[in-house]
Amino acid sequence: MHPAIPHLIELQRIDHQIAVLRADLEAFPKRVMDADAKLTVARGELAAAKTTHTEGAAERKKLEFDVQQWKDRARKYRDQSGAVKTNESFKALQHEIATAEAEVAKAEDRQLEVMMAGEDLERRVKLAEGRLKEAEQAVAAERKVIHAQAAEKKKQLETVLAERERIIAPVPEDLRELYARIAKRHNGTAMAEARDGQCRGCGMRVLPHILQELRTETNEEVFRCESCGLIQYSLEPIPVANPAGGSPNTSSTAAANS
Ligand SMILES: [Zn+2]
Repeated sequence: MHPAIPHLIELQRIDHQIAVLRADLEAFPKRVMDADAKLTVARGELAAAKTTHTEGAAERKKLEFDVQQWKDRARKYRDQSGAVKTNESFKALQHEIATAEAEVAKAEDRQLEVMMAGEDLERRVKLAEGRLKEAEQAVAAERKVIHAQAAEKKKQLETVLAERERIIAPVPEDLRELYARIAKRHNGTAMAEARDGQCRGCGMRVLPHILQELRTETNEEVFRCESCGLIQYSLEPIPVANPAGGSPNTSSTAAANS
């Protein structure tokens, strides 16, 4: 096995962690957006309730005006009726007065309806305001949780990125490039264990003499699976680099070969 293999195994482990953390972090903005969408709905409902309420109030104003106008008109006709000279004009005025009074009654009926509906609309506005307030509080709490979780993930990511730096330090440039190239092509995975005579990346058989080479500590070649192309390693019987860390220079295999 090539002396850098234990480091690459560690690198693979940490890269998988990094990928998971990155995916988690990428999901956060959508979670915030989903939370905010609840506010948009509640705001929309309140706006609609307010619009209907405003329209009702406008109609009430207009009806008040109408009632007053018809009342004024009836009074004006009544005032004129004392001064008319002919029976015919008097009758005509009486007719106008009756019409105006009928209009007053009609407008007043409608006024009552609108007023009663207005109370309902007012309740609807209050209800929507309450719901928006509740939603705002819930979403604020949710955002707080999401941001705290995101901050924690970011911290974790920074930690593992620093660890990655430490792990990759002893890996020669050409192997870094090979690893990166293979990982890029295989969804972040560049390494495959050869176990029980099989490549764990693709399930293909690993030839016995290759297995033998993988287990030979003095071997400095890098073997790749002929089928999937991943870098192969065997965990038996060669020990891995100390995963708990310490300086990469203390890694026994690297030190032995340098
Ligand atoms: Zn394979």
